[in-house]
Amino acid sequence: QLPCTVRELSEAAGVAATDILRLLMEEGVMTTIAAVMDPDLTELVAAELGLEVEFRDELTVEDEYLAEIRDREDAEEDLQPRAPIITFLGHVDHGKTSLIDKIIDTDVVSGESGGITQHIRAYTIFKNDQQISFVDTPGHEAFTEMRARGANVTDIAVLVVAADDGIMPQTEEAISHARAAEVPIIVALNKCDLPGVDANQAMQGLTAQELVPSEWGGDVEVVKTSAITGEGIDELLDTILTVAELHEFTANPDRPALGTCIEAQQESDRGVVSKVMVQNGTLRVGDVIVSGQAYGKVKAMYDTLIPTARLEEAGPSVPVNITGFDVAPGAGEAFYVLDDIAKARTIAEDRAHEARNSNLDVDVQHVTLENLFDR
Ligand code: GDP
Ligand code: MG
Repeated sequence: QLPCTVRELSEAAGVAATDILRLLMEEGVMTTIAAVMDPDLTELVAAELGLEVEFRDELTVEDEYLAEIRDREDAEEDLQPRAPIITFLGHVDHGKTSLIDKIIDTDVVSGESGGITQHIRAYTIFKNDQQISFVDTPGHEAFTEMRARGANVTDIAVLVVAADDGIMPQTEEAISHARAAEVPIIVALNKCDLPGVDANQAMQGLTAQELVPSEWGGDVEVVKTSAITGEGIDELLDTILTVAELHEFTANPDRPALGTCIEAQQESDRGVVSKVMVQNGTLRVGDVIVSGQAYGKVKAMYDTLIPTARLEEAGPSVPVNITGFDVAPGAGEAFYVLDDIAKARTIAEDRAHEARNSNLDVDVQHVTLENLFDR
């Protein structure tokens, strides 16, 4: 299912965008006209408006070609264990960025303007020889938007709850996002270094959200952490690895890579630099690659933590910065390695062409949103 913005729904349904925003507000969702709504929310709003929405993934020839590549099943014997991809979610300022920084031992928080993550960051680390990859989003809007675009780059959500603050509105939102993504949740009860924090109170809050801590007989691992002292970080990583082991994440490193573009920007000296998460296969320098309306050949690959460290290849669950795309693909856009640069160019150009020509063709009696989503 594809995403829909408030504006698109408004135009498709012939309903004022302000009316849609008001409905959303009544649902407790404060948003803007350009914001992407997930399919559930779109359906809910449409129902309120007395409209029937039909989601149809109208696949173009290009999309079908790529979907076939994506859905090509790997033989059981080709599957290898892969690192879990972890996303930290939670209320603003509860310590998501600080925890990831402590884990990888860098200090980006102090460099962020106003302490708000400016870019989506993706890292991979090793704990006792076992690899864990992290994606730090500038807020769960980014997580939701990526998901709304069909990008699922998370295996496990770490819900960060500051012990002094407890469950806050964005904590509840984060919980619903993680549940909607159907990923297991681990709780990091953070800021436990603060004097006078009452962990029990926060755990009661969690229980009220039906996240019952395992030490209270539930099935949610709650780890008491401090991003300042480092307390609980080891335990958090061990817990991540334990949960990952239970879920047995696998991929086939011996196929052409595919994954998700996490973000991309034009740099003056290197051209387009995109951060991509490889989700299956192995990405190599020289590979022909297509993502949304962008295509190219991977010119160079760099470690996401050490910008000068060049890599020759990246396997499943490994995030890398790559150069070589002609234009910047959108965040959350899937990428594919193809064997033919002409094919990649055709796909990218056709998509760009289609995006320019996409017209709204909507029957208000029976609203179909299919045409809105060809991007
Ligand atoms: P985010 O918005 O969830 O990414 O939160 P940040 O990582 O930016 O942290 C917000 C603020 O809380 C910063 O000033 C951090 O220094 C502080 N902070 C984060 N973790 C801890 C912690 O474990 N203990 C204490 N005392 N402060 C923390
Ligand atoms: Mg942050």
